[in-house]
Amino acid sequence: MNITVIGTGYVGLVSGVCYAELGNQVICVDKDPRKIDMLNAGGIPIYEPGLQELATANREAGKLSFTGDLPSAVRQSDIIIIAVGTPPLPNGEANLAFIDQVALEIAGAMNGYKIIAVKSTVPVGTNERLAKLIRSRSDKTFDSISLPEFLREGSAIGDTLHPDRIIIGAESQSAADTMSELHKPLTEQIVVTDIRSAEMIKYASNAFLATKISFINEIANICEKVGADVTKVAEGMGYDKRIGPSFLKAGIGYGGSCFPKDTSALIQIAGHVDYEFKLLRSVVEVNQGQRFNVIRKLENIFDGELEGKTVAVWGLAFKPNTDDVRDSPALEIIQHLVDNGVKVKAYDPIAMESFQALFGKDGVEWCDGALETARDADALCLLTEWDEFAKVDLLQLQSVLKQPILIDGRNVFKEEHLLGTDFIYYSVGRPNLN
Ligand code: NAD
Repeated sequence: MNITVIGTGYVGLVSGVCYAELGNQVICVDKDPRKIDMLNAGGIPIYEPGLQELATANREAGKLSFTGDLPSAVRQSDIIIIAVGTPPLPNGEANLAFIDQVALEIAGAMNGYKIIAVKSTVPVGTNERLAKLIRSRSDKTFDSISLPEFLREGSAIGDTLHPDRIIIGAESQSAADTMSELHKPLTEQIVVTDIRSAEMIKYASNAFLATKISFINEIANICEKVGADVTKVAEGMGYDKRIGPSFLKAGIGYGGSCFPKDTSALIQIAGHVDYEFKLLRSVVEVNQGQRFNVIRKLENIFDGELEGKTVAVWGLAFKPNTDDVRDSPALEIIQHLVDNGVKVKAYDPIAMESFQALFGKDGVEWCDGALETARDADALCLLTEWDEFAKVDLLQLQSVLKQPILIDGRNVFKEEHLLGTDFIYYSVGRPNLN
């Protein structure tokens, strides 16, 4: 099939590359000329394991190309997939400006029947509104499809090539059949539904996963007070098939470009129909507080006197294997430390540049490696569970720290790792070791 994917971010680029891998002819479009130049020169503007190799192979095989020329791409394609960003507005609603702009550009370029699918996460009713918008500007026929995306950054290629399910929201049976045909090589689990339900499936899924995370974080906070171990509690819960083991890892809460914005957007969507989503409001509130778990522990250790201390931070990305730092807990934690007169030394294996682009370069000492970051620090906080940190020699780490204080915000280390060391060790929802 001839496909245009609009937006070459985490979703659009991975999807475009994977559609090409399936044997389709794919044009990826972006309005950012730097991204297109980089892609045409064989580079990749984001960090995503395996993406570079797959993009290069498909580009060289002539199945994948990149352009800033949206009208030309639309004219050459039968299926147009929109994967531009829908970032949060200050009130929590999804900003649909990029989506609307693309819809107008598509309308202006249509030269015949197209399937127009929205992969971006959009509030219920958006596809219908876009269809009206396009219809008001073009007399060409088209069918709208809601095609929500569920990939996870860091494992996006595997998730795209082996999804748990594909959701296709459609009014037209023939367009649904075409989209099913396109995705059939990926999974047998294709759910065809109406457009509004498809839009809601995406928000409901992310809200449910966020709820699981905030739930286990609250259990962790109680575990700390009653002397239980949340990792054992989660394991015991997870064997129950009705509960399942995933998304039961206690820590400093979720971040990233999806859960925070999608939970806020769903609260807004509910509000617009006079429904107060109380449960989800609490999930968001719990998550916000959980980020400060690390700070509370530091304050306890130093009797509330953080000013003048040196704190090392391991991990800036919102999760490992990505350079994405949007709404990463590290942003707020580091800002709080800096504001309170703490000297912060920070390091991330991949996300240093993207973090500095958002946070700024001033006020923090940026380091080149894990041990260098810890050197002469009064305490070390682990905020992202990169493999590299789990592999550090703890005796060596202890020797470079001014004080062997380790606050593990992601429960990376186990008690046996710390045997034979002098670490004063705090984690989330587990007994302290000292
Ligand atoms: P992103 O910000 O990484 O990428 C969006 C891209 O769209 C950018 O490269 C931008 O330049 C481009 N763009 C914006 N306006 C354009 C226009 N008019 N023409 C051409 N290109 C344009 O976003 P993302 O993380 O890939 O997310 C895209 C959508 O997918 C969002 O709605 C998001 O909620 C959803 N989603 C994201 C993830 C994820 O893990 N990142 C997972 C599932 C769903």
